[in-house]
Amino acid sequence: MTTTAANPAATPQETARSTELFQRAEARTARNYKPLPVVIEHAEGAWMTDVDGTRFLDLLAGYSALNFGHGHPGLLRVAHEQLDKLTLTSRAFVHDQFADFCAELGDLCGKELVLPMNTGAEAVETAIKVMRKWGYEVKGVAPGEAEIIVASGNFHGRTTTIVGFSDDPDARNSFGPFAPGFVMVPYGDLEAVEAAIGPNTVGVLMEPIQGEGGVVIPPDGFWKGLRELTRRENVLMAADEIQAGLGRTGKTFASDHEGVVPDLYVLGKALGAGIVPVSAVVADRDVLGVLRPGQHGSTFGGNPLACAVGLEVVRMLATGEHQARAAELGELMRERLEALVGHGVLAVRVRGLWAGVDIDPAVGTGREVCERLMARGVLAKDTHGSTIRLAPPLVISAEDLAWGLDQLAAVVRGD
Ligand SMILES: *Cc1c(COP(=O)(O)O)cnc(C)c1O
Repeated sequence: MTTTAANPAATPQETARSTELFQRAEARTARNYKPLPVVIEHAEGAWMTDVDGTRFLDLLAGYSALNFGHGHPGLLRVAHEQLDKLTLTSRAFVHDQFADFCAELGDLCGKELVLPMNTGAEAVETAIKVMRKWGYEVKGVAPGEAEIIVASGNFHGRTTTIVGFSDDPDARNSFGPFAPGFVMVPYGDLEAVEAAIGPNTVGVLMEPIQGEGGVVIPPDGFWKGLRELTRRENVLMAADEIQAGLGRTGKTFASDHEGVVPDLYVLGKALGAGIVPVSAVVADRDVLGVLRPGQHGSTFGGNPLACAVGLEVVRMLATGEHQARAAELGELMRERLEALVGHGVLAVRVRGLWAGVDIDPAVGTGREVCERLMARGVLAKDTHGSTIRLAPPLVISAEDLAWGLDQLAAVVRGD
């Protein structure tokens, strides 16, 4: 793949299509996003091309949904083959892709059972329902009293229940009333979790690393300590690995960095490889077994196309190749980013091929930095005003990654 991400100064005529399509899209969509003014037409690997033929290096990878890059040949082959055969049965009938997907995803997690859904938020909702039901039926919590402990700065999705336990005013304000039964503690504070656990606590739901929060890594030992604490207190531990999991951090799961196996893995994003939405809750029989027929479901969850793609993702992860690549390229990224601290960058947090870069306000807002990156042929996304989250596809070449980081260096240094 070429490393020259040339963004030749386009003539007005050449950018006409992009501008027109961008404005038409903005005119007819709810303004719940503020996209960069670019209109992508096709992509391959880590490179996206807009409608005017300009190429951009993708340093967001669909918020980690595209861990294996755009147009991965093996994944596309599986998807095309499945499209031609069977796309939906509903769970009223079993299809031929279901057994292998559930078995191999379960094995990847070291768990007995899989409950497939579609989006991340649905998987989180599923985990909440399962933990509550376990609390009432197994732990013996009084009806309607179950509590789940969550963390400050969390991001678990956009449903009304989930935004009700967010502390981000944009995510939450004006969307109430909210479901009760959630207790928030500061992220990474084990003593606060311990103090919050009471007789009605059924579970703890947290991200091992907070992605949307800006790639926030908790103190060393927190995740392991949380595992020991929840086991001791008979409380379930649900790891929202939707963004952190499936190779991004250099291991299969971010929990692996501290040798932790949670009670429930909550997975999504890269599980569908950017082709179809695929999410799942993965746990042992003593947890997921609380659900009986009719008590939870989804029309599309576990459909043949999703299972075929998800199975290929699981098989790719089973080789460990992508995790190793994330770890290796992550070291390159760490070196480059750490060199920027004090030069337009206040702080960086890196785990695998995933980084939060806090921009010095003197340089500009996160949004302004992303706009300047775009002018240099790099697409990235700010989060929470002044942080840039970098999550390149794990298939990016070292040369392309280095080039992308050169562009960031030039922007923050004001070149
Ligand atoms: C993206 C994300 C979700 C929500 O996933 P959707 O597919 O957008 O519903 C939940 N948790 C985490 C950690 C995420 O990053």
